[in-house]
Amino acid sequence: MRKLISILAMTATALVAVVVSSGTANAAYPSAPGWTSPAQMAPVGTICFETGGGKVLGPSIVAAAAAWNQSDLTVVAKVSCTGYARRATVKFVAYYNSTTNARGYVTDCATYSGGHYTWMYLRGVWTWVADTPTVSVNYAPLATKQCMYSYAAKTNMMSHETGHYFGLSHATGITVMGSAINTAYPVATFYDKQRINGRY
Ligand SMILES: [Zn+2]
Repeated sequence: MRKLISILAMTATALVAVVVSSGTANAAYPSAPGWTSPAQMAPVGTICFETGGGKVLGPSIVAAAAAWNQSDLTVVAKVSCTGYARRATVKFVAYYNSTTNARGYVTDCATYSGGHYTWMYLRGVWTWVADTPTVSVNYAPLATKQCMYSYAAKTNMMSHETGHYFGLSHATGITVMGSAINTAYPVATFYDKQRINGRY
């Protein structure tokens, strides 16, 4: 769907919080390959990535937002989204987890959580929408060494986690949604944007 149509559709969007079981979400909207299950989407309208002004990740968050904004999504990045006209805010926070796997790598570099989810009718389908989308970045020393070793690595991480917010699950190929950091694709690729446009 094109951006203009998405924006116009906002006024007709029904917001109804009812269902609590994920099974119902699956029944109403069977998960398509490559999309999260239960089906998740961002709400219609401007999505604001709140960088918080962090020097380490700020530029990466800005770059991730700019690339997603080239799809039919409307995405901006601001130091603070407060006071900016938007439909949703994605926050970025720090956590510390030094847990390693058998090969000595940290088990997670960053994670995405939607917090509580609301069941909404968007763009002709019923879907889950995150109430408090949050990207958490692991600042444990080993994690920063293994995951934030370059601008491309950090940007790939931010593009990937925010891709989860839009409903993308892991994928292979020319994509930011690979299961490991891939500095070859710092921001959403043509393939990623095509998939977004096919859904939104
Ligand atoms: Zn992931």
